[in-house]
Parts: sequence; C-alpha cells; structure tokens
Amino acid sequence: PADVQAFDLVVIGAGPGGYVAALRAAQLGQSVACVELEPALGGTCLRVGCIPSKALLESSEIYHEAQHSFADRGITFDGLALDLPAMLKDKNRTVKTLTSGIAGLFKKNKVTHVSGRGTLAGRDGDRVLMQVDGKDAGTLSAKHVLIATGSAPASLPGIEIDGDFVTDSTGALSYESVPEHLVVIGAGYIGLELGTVWKRLGAKVTVLEYLDHILPLNDGEIAKAAEKMFRKQGLDLKLGTKVVGVEQRDGGGGQVLIEGGDPIECDKVLMSVGRRPYTDGLGLETVGISTDKRGFIPVDEHYAAAEGVSAIGDVIGGAMLAHKAEEEGIAFVERLVTGHGHINYGVIPSIVYTSPEIAAVGKTEEELKKEGIEYRKGKFPFAANGRAKAIGHTEGQVKILADKTTDRVLGVHILGPHAGDLIAECAAAMEYGASAEDIARTCHAHPTLSEAVKEAALAVDGRAIHF
Ligand code: FAD
Repeated sequence: PADVQAFDLVVIGAGPGGYVAALRAAQLGQSVACVELEPALGGTCLRVGCIPSKALLESSEIYHEAQHSFADRGITFDGLALDLPAMLKDKNRTVKTLTSGIAGLFKKNKVTHVSGRGTLAGRDGDRVLMQVDGKDAGTLSAKHVLIATGSAPASLPGIEIDGDFVTDSTGALSYESVPEHLVVIGAGYIGLELGTVWKRLGAKVTVLEYLDHILPLNDGEIAKAAEKMFRKQGLDLKLGTKVVGVEQRDGGGGQVLIEGGDPIECDKVLMSVGRRPYTDGLGLETVGISTDKRGFIPVDEHYAAAEGVSAIGDVIGGAMLAHKAEEEGIAFVERLVTGHGHINYGVIPSIVYTSPEIAAVGKTEEELKKEGIEYRKGKFPFAANGRAKAIGHTEGQVKILADKTTDRVLGVHILGPHAGDLIAECAAAMEYGASAEDIARTCHAHPTLSEAVKEAALAVDGRAIHF
C-alpha cells in the first residue's frame, strides 16, 4: 500500500547499538530508518547513562580536588562554593550537544529518523512490518529489522522506584540538592560511580551489597584494592547485606530495611542492582520471538532472532556496555551487506569511572585458575611512575596476566589514574595476539602513565626497572 514506507533496514532504538548500526548500513548503501521513542537520540548511553554520569564524575572530582588538593599545589583561593544547578546545567548541555550531533549524523548519512514507539506487526511476504505510534505515526516495512531497544533499570522485589525517595540512576543524575545521607543499593559500577559523585559533593554515602565483595565481574585482587580505596575515600561499604524493603516517611526521607540489622535512615535511595532488557510494547510475538527467562531476546551467532529480525546490544544480554552494543551493530550490518562481520568477545574492555578508574580487558586471575590455564603475572604500582607522582595520583597498579609457556597476554587489570585510556593499548595488543614481551619491548614515551603498562609487562618476567 502507498502509505507504507519501505526500507532495506529498519532499526528500532537509537542507542549506541542502534544509531551506529543505522549509520554503518547507510554508509554501505542501504536505505535505513531508525525509530526512536524518546525525542532525543543516543539512547540510555547519551541521555541518562555514560555521558551525563561522566560529566558529573569529572565536575565532582574537580570540586573535590579544589577542596582537598589544590592547596598542596600552591593554588589557594577564597570562597569555593558548589553551584549544583549550574553543574547539572553543564551536564545537560553536554548531553544536548551530543544527542543533537547524532541527529546531524543521521541527516548527513541520509538515515530517516522516525519519531515514535515501534511495534512489530508481523510479515507481508518476505518483508517485516512495523507500526509506529507517536509523532511520525505510520507503517514501515523492511527487508530486515534490527531490534536495539536496550535496557531499563531493575529493582528489588517489593521495592518501587518512585523517583522521589527511591530513585534509579536517571534520578541520581539530577538530584536537586545534595542528599544528606544517600543509600546506594548494589555495589556494581553504576552504584559506585554515582555514589562517589554524591560523596564528593558532600553527601554521606552508604553502599549496601548482597555479595561479600564489590565489582563481582572484576579481578578479585583489583576489586579488593578498590574496596580499600573506596573505604579510605569515606564510602561506608556494607557487604553481605540483604535489603528487604524501604519505608518512606511523610514529608521526605525514610529508612532502608536490612535483614538481621537495624534500619538505615536516609533521605535518598539509589537503586543500582542491575538493568533489565527492555522489550515493552515491541510486538515480538507477531514475528514469532519469545524472550528467555530473564527477558533477553535469544539470538544466534549472527544476531538473528527470527526470519528477517535480528537483535543487538543490551536487549540480548552479555556485557551491558555501550561499546559492546556498537560493535555488535557494526558486525551485524557488515555481515548483512558484505557477508563478513565479527566481534572478539574475549577482548571487550570494561571500565569503572571512579577516581581513580578501574579498567579491565581479557581474563581475570580467577577465570584463568578455573580454566586451568597456567599464567605468569606482572604488576607495577603507580606510586613508582613519575607522571603519576607529578599529577598527584599515585594510587593503584597495573597487572598483566600472560600465558606461562607462550607469554601471550591473557588479561590486563588496571586500578589507577586514566586506567580507562591505558587499557586501550592493552586491548589492541591482545587483538594482535601480543606477548608481554612485545609490550615490554615497545618504546613508551616518558613521562607517561603508560610506562606503568610497559613496566608491568617487564614485571611478568621479573624485569621491572623502576620497582
Ligand atoms: P540503549 O542505549 O538503552 O538504547 C535503546 C533505545 O531504544 C532507547 O533510546 C529507547 O528509548 C529506544 N526504544 C526502546 N523501545 C523502543 C521502541 N519500541 N520503539 C522505539 N524506540 C525504542 N556503558 C558504557 O559502555 N560505559 C559507561 O560509562 C556507561 N555508563 C553508564 C552509566 C549509567 C548511569 C547507565 C544507566 C548505563 C551506563 N552504561 C555505560 C551502559 C550503556 O548505557 C548501555 O550499555 C548502552 O546504552 C546500551 O546500548 P543499546 O543501544 O543496546 O540500548
């Protein structure tokens, strides 16, 4: 019918998975539409995730340094004050610039932006149909549909995220005033990042974690060191603590109820116990897709979920990270158009953007032990790195794990300043199948933090020079 808009590819969701896939498909000559229900493009990552959280992490860190370490550097001033509304405005400005940048990229690459909620509506021959409900309401038809609808915050049974007393990460990116006492439920990266933001801005912060350790996906030794560091920074970490409910008081504040312990009084709760795949109102049943027990869309190794329908990003599970979603989007589209597309899931870096940062790529020591792989380990502390001393951030270390017989790098774990940038070299090295010796023999500029990576590689063979 004439009122149906036809495309080669329709992408549902303009997060990092979806918008990147749409752009790459357009580059490869496909006619592409990207349907997004939110007015701003960019998904969780740009609107309420990676970008705004990093803006607040940076601003709160500068404020904290101004209070606690500028004087050591001979910089003194009077009248330091926190203007929280201005800080939030600055964060919002960054988000706005980046989300409108994607609208610009869509225009440049001739990707049709369809504004509204997309719902699958079965098939017409070999084409997939979709109904759009919203500003650009109508029917779309496509040879292929790519679902990239992402994820939404999860909660604990019986605890409602009301956006006032109990907030999710989105709420915690915009508190109107600094809470006196913030209780964070869940010591994963989102809870720790936002917990440390509000701690630096002046809140008392208590983090409750059900497990007996923080950052369950990280290397144990590094997570332990990070735990010590967070305690030193004043986070009250209560591990092995089961939250059983919350009670809100009229007129603000309330308490968090924990099993076998006294209730904890606070004025805000940040629920950060993970994220759930988002498939609400997607009409999956019309194309014969059922989600798995946890709500993820099951896909094959080429991201196919049903004939002509594929899915990538947070909604299919695995590491719920923006760059993983992007790589999947590219791999899917390239395979669709060129026949080739591939991701090395063994080399996906992950970063916790606290201060200092915690970055990892490849296997942890625990995984190597479990898999019975023999390895050697090289460690180097930032306290022995000249640049770290000069910038006044000497906490942490680089740890490299290499195969005992071949010396091939199997994993790198960094706790320290700019760890998130340093890990890129290690990921590239691993993609090329480098040995620790290869990193050790590569000339690293002086004085840089990256010399700590080289020294850790030397330390694999017991040859670190500066420690
Ligand atoms: P999303 O980004 O969730 O995008 C999905 C989009 O689909 C959304 O815009 C949604 O509105 C839209 N949508 C859903 N259903 C429909 C429909 N039916 N029709 C139309 N549109 C629809 N990851 C990192 O790698 N680094 C970080 O530093 C980082 N920090 C984070 C901090 C926070 C506070 C949070 C919450 C997340 C963070 N993440 C980070 C995770 C990252 O945001 C996600 O992994 C990433 O956004 C997933 O991308 P995606 O494309 O799969 O989905």
